[in-house]
Amino acid sequence: MTENDLIQELAGMGVHVVYLPYRLAGAYWHDEGLIVIDSRQTRAGQLAALAHETIHARRGDSGPQPSHVEDLVDELAAKLLISPIEYALAERVYGSRPAALAAELGVTQRMVEAWRRGTERGWGMRAGPSPPVGDPADGPRGRGVR
Ligand SMILES: [Zn+2]
Repeated sequence: MTENDLIQELAGMGVHVVYLPYRLAGAYWHDEGLIVIDSRQTRAGQLAALAHETIHARRGDSGPQPSHVEDLVDELAAKLLISPIEYALAERVYGSRPAALAAELGVTQRMVEAWRRGTERGWGMRAGPSPPVGDPADGPRGRGVR
């Protein structure tokens, strides 16, 4: 999916996306229907953050999620951004180095790594919705790029 595809899907869910300098790569406020993306990131970084927060919005996540859920969210985000055919073509031409693949695919290296993990794990068949951890009143959950 492209950035516009993601923004359109989110708009359909009543979630608005704002780009501005922010302390986290991205954040999602469920009750407010708002995603903030740190505009200081590279284009690939912004796209990764948008895809990541889109998955949180789809799941209805609120508040910080356990690390295994955040890993799953990254895998599903990578699935949104990287098609199997594009990945296979890129790997054929550029080899398996994540940095080279990321550059070719226009995504972050982290998304390439998450995509590989997701492929190996069968795209998150293991994790369902999880209850929020912590108090949502503590602020946006969001998540910086680790
Ligand atoms: Zn997250």
